[in-house]
Amino acid sequence: MVEQDRITAFINSLDRGNAQYLDELEKKAKEGDVPIIRKDTQALLKFLMAQSRPRNILEVGCAIGFSALLMAEYSDPDTKITTIEKFEKRIPIARDNFKTFDKNGKITLLEGDAMDILKTLPEGYDFIFMDAAKGQYINFLPECLRILNKGGLLVSDNVLQDGDVIESRFAVTRRDRTIHARMREYLYELKHNDALNTVILTVGDGMTLSVKL
Ligand code: SAM
Repeated sequence: MVEQDRITAFINSLDRGNAQYLDELEKKAKEGDVPIIRKDTQALLKFLMAQSRPRNILEVGCAIGFSALLMAEYSDPDTKITTIEKFEKRIPIARDNFKTFDKNGKITLLEGDAMDILKTLPEGYDFIFMDAAKGQYINFLPECLRILNKGGLLVSDNVLQDGDVIESRFAVTRRDRTIHARMREYLYELKHNDALNTVILTVGDGMTLSVKL
C-alpha cells in the first residue's frame, strides 16, 4: 500500500494554491508555530464553500484568522462568518489580519471561551467549522447541534490525531489518554446520533462532515 503521506504530497502537488495574501499568511503562521489547517483541508473547505454555499458560518477556533479568511475569500459575497478564539496572544493578530484582508467585512471575531460563547449564540448557522481544542469537541457538540440549521453541515478537523485515535488507549502516552478517549467518544456520537449523517475522511489530520437531518 502507498503510504498516506505520499498520497497527500501527490494530491497537494496538483493544488493551484490560494490568493497570494493567504499563501503569505499561511507561511507566517507556520514560521510562528501557529497551527492552521493543512493544504488538503484547505482544498476541502474551498470545495464546500462552492458546493454548499453557506450563508452563515460559525468557526470554533480562529487562531490568527487563516481559515476564516480562506472561507471568506471563497464563499459568496453575502456570506457571514463568526469565529471564536480565546487565546489572548492570537486575538490581536487575528483582528489585524481581518482589518487588512477582510475587505468585505464578512468576519466577526468573538473573544472568549467557546464553551461560554456557544451558549449565547442564536440558532441559524448553516455551516459550523470545529477546529479548537480536540478534547472539547464532545462538550461543544450539543450547543453546535442546537444552533445548526437542518440540512446544515458540521465540519470537524483533526479527528484522527495523527493516527493516535485508532490505537489502544494503552498505546498512547498517559498525557494524551483523555483526548484520545474524548475524540473516540466524539466520533462514536457523530456516527450514532440519529440527528446526524456523518462521514469520516482521512483528509488532513482526519475530518468529519456531518449533515443535520
Ligand atoms: N482554524 C484555524 C486556522 O486553520 O486558521 C486554526 C485553529 S487552531 C488549530 C485552534 C485554535 O482554537 C487555537 O488558536 C486555540 O487557542 C483555540 N481554542 C482552543 N480551545 C478553545 C476554546 N475553548 N474556545 C476558544 N478558542 C479555543
